[in-house]
Amino acid sequence: MRIVLLGAPGSGKGTQAQRLTSIYNIPQISTGDLLRAAVSAGTELGLKAKAAMDAGALVSDAIVLGMIRDRLQQDDTKNGFILDGFPRNTAQAESLDALLAEVNQPIQCGLLIDVDFEVLLKRLTGRLSCKQCGAVFNRYFSPPQLEDVCDVCGGELYHRADDNEETIGNRLKVYEQNTAPLIQYYAAQNKLRKVNGVGAMEAITQAIQTELATV
Ligand code: AMP
Repeated sequence: MRIVLLGAPGSGKGTQAQRLTSIYNIPQISTGDLLRAAVSAGTELGLKAKAAMDAGALVSDAIVLGMIRDRLQQDDTKNGFILDGFPRNTAQAESLDALLAEVNQPIQCGLLIDVDFEVLLKRLTGRLSCKQCGAVFNRYFSPPQLEDVCDVCGGELYHRADDNEETIGNRLKVYEQNTAPLIQYYAAQNKLRKVNGVGAMEAITQAIQTELATV
């Protein structure tokens, strides 16, 4: 199964991708995670990407496409993958289609997780992630039992540097202008599916599975 997850920042793409990974046994590929790892490791690529990320702007297509090309060549993508946070604009989507056409493995589904703007804001300002296992919590909706400690593995929780109000506003604007047009892009290819992204996490996963069963 080759899936692109679509949805605004805070729509739950990362959370759902993690769950789908274990259900379908295919990897989650998040360009945001790959970029944050490069920034933490202080690589040349990370240094180039950091300013754009801190401002909530998009990192250049060349950097992101290079990362995706490398990642899709790894063995664990043979049975498919879940793309989370990529593509982010039409140029990236077209490059992805061209790349996958070379190996005759086209995207099968663009799956939109639909969430209202007000909910997105609260989710992003309250978001906490585990440094160790990547589990995601929220100060307002799903707080950890102990402050700043992961319920799953006991790791330390952190608030993402780009989850502050100013950067969030910019990220949502960038989404509307650059990424939302991809909904139409996949609809035109007859690949668009949509689920309501507000509600219990398990129920959303179930709705996604129902959609994917007919892809
Ligand atoms: P995310 O974790 O998907 O919210 O991504 C965090 C930040 O990484 C974004 O605000 C962008 O600065 C950058 N980023 C992630 N994916 C992409 C992409 N496909 N194209 C350009 N920039 C990206």
